[in-house]
Amino acid sequence: MSVNVAVMPGDGIGIEIIAEAVKVLDYYRAQGRLDITLNECPVGGAGYDAAGKPLPDETLALAKASDAILFGAIGGPQYENLPRELRPERGLLALRAGLDLFANLRPAILYPQLVAASSLKPEVVAGLDIMIVRELTGGIYFGQPRGINTDASGERTGFNTLVYKESEIERIAKVAFDIAMKRGKRLCSVDKANVLEVSELWREVMIKKSEAYPDVELSHMYVDNAAMQLIKWPKQFDVVVTKNLFGDILSDAASMLTGSIGMLPSASLDANSKGMYEPIHGSAPDIAGKGVANPLATILSVAMMLRYSLRHPQLADEIEAAVGRVLDKGLRTPDIMAEGCKQVGTVEMGEAVLAEL
Ligand code: NAD
Repeated sequence: MSVNVAVMPGDGIGIEIIAEAVKVLDYYRAQGRLDITLNECPVGGAGYDAAGKPLPDETLALAKASDAILFGAIGGPQYENLPRELRPERGLLALRAGLDLFANLRPAILYPQLVAASSLKPEVVAGLDIMIVRELTGGIYFGQPRGINTDASGERTGFNTLVYKESEIERIAKVAFDIAMKRGKRLCSVDKANVLEVSELWREVMIKKSEAYPDVELSHMYVDNAAMQLIKWPKQFDVVVTKNLFGDILSDAASMLTGSIGMLPSASLDANSKGMYEPIHGSAPDIAGKGVANPLATILSVAMMLRYSLRHPQLADEIEAAVGRVLDKGLRTPDIMAEGCKQVGTVEMGEAVLAEL
């Protein structure tokens, strides 16, 4: 099957890390194992420089016409004084909204070689491999009405609305169950059904959906307990599914269990498994242009893209294994450097992954 991927390096280290990730795709194309067309386009500050806005019309059109999007990072000090609607971050939000990317997948994987980078004890995090599935386009961040009202006495009231339609819960449930089927077949739905009616409905829909997935073991956990369990014994989780607000908080907590921002990929999917794949970190202006950024989060984002949108799970496995072997050999960019290891730059790390492939 022939596939089209929109490649958006963005700003800062986005340009350096995407270059290494593209080498992996080029390698598979040259081998004849991937029939892929890559189309590069500007976004963020680069979009503003090229077309006067962070999400140029051509970039959105290309994203819509593609099977997947590989995204680097956006932002930089030179854009901070622009009017809010022209700032790079707006390009990213507009892209997520424009493509209806409602399912955010954040794996928290700790490579055994990097166990010392975590703030938790090695026995608690060694071998950690969790997938958090967060609903991304609904819930309290988008619910209406919202605002701040002032009553006659001058007292102000701030209010937001937590609202989920059954269909919105149903579609995120489907994504989560499908992912659980591709992994350890255990799904934990995190809610607050003891207090919130929305969570009651959430739980009902999850249970109904589970009938279509008899092989997946579904469990439920209240969000306060889930926060505690993530720190206490994170390895009890395989796939976690939760609403926008809870997922925002829990996915950040889970990703930091692994201690290294330069290692973590992410995906945001629509209803047809079309997705945008990006490292969780930003454009890192402090190290941009120095050739020291860790490209592994972006290379691992390519693996996610191959698994979830392009249906090449075998290639995804190969890339993840190659990253593991590079770490086994003791190669480290400065952000994950440890005693006894060899420090390398962005390009050397990318080349090392290619060599392992
Ligand atoms: P950041 O993630 O860019 O950097 C935080 C720290 O982590 C920095 O010290 C940086 O050097 C380091 N770091 C990040 N990625 C790294 C990598 N691959 N290898 C080695 N070290 C790495 O966050 P920030 O400094 O808060 O934000 C910088 C800019 O990025 C801002 O303009 C912000 O708006 C933007 N941002 C963009 C995204 C995105 O594109 N998705 C996400 C977060 C922040």
